[in-house]
Amino acid sequence: MDLQTKLSGGVTKIQQSIEQGKQKLQIAQEINKCRNIMEETAGKRAEELIKLGEAVYRKIRLGEIQDPHLLSLSEVLVELDKVLYQTKEKMEKLLESQEKGKVCMHCKQPLSPGDRFCGACGQPVAQEEEESDQYAACPRCEQFIPYPADFCTCCGIKLS
Ligand SMILES: [Zn+2]
Ligand SMILES: [Zn+2]
Repeated sequence: MDLQTKLSGGVTKIQQSIEQGKQKLQIAQEINKCRNIMEETAGKRAEELIKLGEAVYRKIRLGEIQDPHLLSLSEVLVELDKVLYQTKEKMEKLLESQEKGKVCMHCKQPLSPGDRFCGACGQPVAQEEEESDQYAACPRCEQFIPYPADFCTCCGIKLS
């Protein structure tokens, strides 16, 4: 093999490996594209499923769906709704007491939530009036909710 042949052989090899490198890069880019499309589509699909689920769940709450399998699937949501409802109530109370920290009506010293007597002057703390006695237990989730109402404010079932 003369030098010329050796050289041109080397060039060809370099060109081949550049070509291979390009191909590998292209394949990697295609794989990435596929991955992105799959992720994006799966995300959209999940969103659509949520919409479908919300629509079905609405019909369940209205009593328009009697399918036992769907009903039993929806039962899990009652417990989750209750946790959300009760936590929201608690948080609202906490936010309220954070905002307008109660003070003793006699000496104006700050009170802690639940104090029955003022720690500064010893006077009894006026108990807040019951917000309302218009409460009733929801027949489905058993949460105490403002009543009368058309729908349970906790689990969303239609109240007749
Ligand atoms: Zn006081
Ligand atoms: Zn309810």
